[in-house]
Amino acid sequence: MDASTPYERRTREAQRRLRDRGVDALVLFPSTNLLYTSGFDEHPGERHLLLFVPAADGDSDGGAESLPDPVFLVPELYGEQVRAESWVPDVRTWADEDDPMDAVRGAVADLGLAGADDVLVDDTMNARFTLDLRAALPDAEFGLASSVLSALRVRKDDTELAAMRRAGEVADAVVSDLRGLGADAVGMTETELAGYVENRLSSRGGDGVSFDTIVGAGPNGAMPHHTHGDREIRAGEPVVLDFGTRVDGYPSDQTRTLVFGGEPSDEVKRVHEVVREAQAAGVDAVEPGATTAEVDAAARDVIESAGYGDEFVHRTGHGVGLDVHEEPYIVAGNDRELREGMVFSVEPGVYLPGEFGVRIEDLVAVTDDGAERLNRTDRGWRCE
Ligand code: ZN
Ligand code: ZN
Repeated sequence: MDASTPYERRTREAQRRLRDRGVDALVLFPSTNLLYTSGFDEHPGERHLLLFVPAADGDSDGGAESLPDPVFLVPELYGEQVRAESWVPDVRTWADEDDPMDAVRGAVADLGLAGADDVLVDDTMNARFTLDLRAALPDAEFGLASSVLSALRVRKDDTELAAMRRAGEVADAVVSDLRGLGADAVGMTETELAGYVENRLSSRGGDGVSFDTIVGAGPNGAMPHHTHGDREIRAGEPVVLDFGTRVDGYPSDQTRTLVFGGEPSDEVKRVHEVVREAQAAGVDAVEPGATTAEVDAAARDVIESAGYGDEFVHRTGHGVGLDVHEEPYIVAGNDRELREGMVFSVEPGVYLPGEFGVRIEDLVAVTDDGAERLNRTDRGWRCE
């Protein structure tokens, strides 16, 4: 079996890591872990749809390694689709009139897992399927798939980086579209402007939104989790615009704080400048071997020195991959070292309740000697 697809390469690496950790198998259900390893993308449902990934056998150094194929257990109505979309050769179906537990026990027996004592399940697996696996694997201790998969997923391969670069370009193009609106945005509601953003994202080649679009005008911008509402955009007030789309399954996530139709107040200009400097300092701190806490501190120090430390109420960033929020988290106290291929946001903000907020966010990828920006548009507030 050649390892020509990225999905198979990732699965084979996971099998080796399971062996090295003394784990017997990994069982996935519809999730980003399943998509990452199999290439098959589906939402969780009520039917048993499970991928059993057994650990590698033998020793990779001794040349006696064997990598048993996973077993994909799927409802019959998915059979053709899973065979087409996944690299896994052993796809087994069960019909609605069957007891899916017979198929589960059959897969467990064929993979030699009946006596398994250490099994990992998908972190988000619904309890009903976990309980069925407990019944089929009575001697096993259960752990979480992320204990093996997150170390793999945190470093993006070339396929993933290419998708995220393109998603970033789509987001950048829509920021340019927004700047081009200029004074035309004044009088639109936040929800209308969010609709405009979402239309432009798909016109520019994105696939839907990667999270709920945020348009926070004036005081609404001071609430980091505000999405959008019926407030009208006013001339000269800052508007926090945080949005993303997907390309080949991978998201973008970018924030600009723009001012439409007029000059902002001196305080808005000052805060915007502080956040820009903080964001640049955070990006400048990114290099292999630096810790995530150091990146957080680089951005936070700028904001604290300017006297707004208490108004920067969240961590500096989060990892981005198939999940928009994943490892690594850019937060004080996290001494995780950055490694080439990690992708995360740098998104400091200052939030003045009842007045306004400013956040600036770009995604960066760690390279062998620094950082690659996945968003390149101007970070200023000015529109045409
Ligand atoms: Zn964002
Ligand atoms: Zn973000």
